[in-house]
Amino acid sequence: MECYLDNSATTKPCKQAVEAATKAMTEVFGNPSSLHAHGFAALQLLESARNTLAKPLKAESSEIYFTPCGTVSNNTAIFGAAKLLKHKGNKIVTTAMEHPSVLKCMERLSEEGFEIVYLEPDENGQISLNALEQAVDEKTILVSMMAVNNEVGSILPFDKAKAIIEKKHAPALLHVDAVQAFLKLPIVPKKCGIDLLSASAHKVHGLKGSGVLYVRKGLNIRPYLVGGGQENDMCSGTQAMPNIAAFAAAVEAFGNTKQNAFKVAKIKNVLLEKLQGAKGIEINSPENALPYILNLSVAEVPSQVSVNFLSMHGVSVSAGSACSKGHRSAVLEAMGLSPERIDTALRISFSHETTEEEALYCAEMLLKETEELRKKG
Ligand code: PLP
Repeated sequence: MECYLDNSATTKPCKQAVEAATKAMTEVFGNPSSLHAHGFAALQLLESARNTLAKPLKAESSEIYFTPCGTVSNNTAIFGAAKLLKHKGNKIVTTAMEHPSVLKCMERLSEEGFEIVYLEPDENGQISLNALEQAVDEKTILVSMMAVNNEVGSILPFDKAKAIIEKKHAPALLHVDAVQAFLKLPIVPKKCGIDLLSASAHKVHGLKGSGVLYVRKGLNIRPYLVGGGQENDMCSGTQAMPNIAAFAAAVEAFGNTKQNAFKVAKIKNVLLEKLQGAKGIEINSPENALPYILNLSVAEVPSQVSVNFLSMHGVSVSAGSACSKGHRSAVLEAMGLSPERIDTALRISFSHETTEEEALYCAEMLLKETEELRKKG
């Protein structure tokens, strides 16, 4: 049986996305900046995709900017906000459990003289609002907090951050990396005071090579990528129309956020029930995590050995997060897990397309693994 359970690394493009991309490559292939019929057709497709992306965020289409990926969205948001507000202060508050596309921006800004405060997660992968309140002051110009952690699935209190920024009279903008949360958790930026939000197509059954950055209306952050002025100057470079059209098609095909999450929770429970009481398997994700991500450790079996064993039996999962390949997971470390537990951790990540049979098969292979590999160890 073939069983893909690494949906937080990337998802399989849905049929609608592939069809939309094909159409954009074979029929509507113009450059949306060109002033002729082919260009106008591409521009129409681009603006229609922008409308589609605005809907789940209940945003205006003018607040949606296409980027090449979640990484570029994060870089644009963070460097743009820092440049815009550096005259008001030099402090930035973020968390120790962000994706490298946020953490590396922070390292750069630290080299440039910004003071970066990293809030540490607790043993449940949670960030304390008290710690956030203590860290934010009137010199804080940016708070950057992910919505859902990519390794353990914990849901961070991003929706409460703006109230703290306001209470502390900070000039800070609020950036939310919603790459793992987009369409999987209802997020309405205007409701919770998000100024900047990043999302990526390939995590929601679109193609690799397209992301979005939501920028609150009226906020003029300095562009990070400069060039031909595309995307209203926010992200220069000719728009990747096949990927953008596919992103919109994937969003339309994704289905209802709550119903999908409910379905995925059921599938995750099928797997957990099968593993219940199994010797040597410990769950690292908190109980109230987003159901799409399940992190667990298989005692005595190094992560990559597990990944190889499961892969040999047709099951694709990842060792921690695909982006921290080769390094001990900083997120699990920050959660206070022992080195043994971190070095044996696996991330299983579901999609609403995952079936109960796949979840059950994965659990069976994990049990087989504990039998065969732990005995040898
Ligand atoms: N942020 C988070 C939380 C992610 O999980 C990822 C990718 O795994 C990214 C950002 C980067 O997104 P992309 O692969 O589209 O650059």
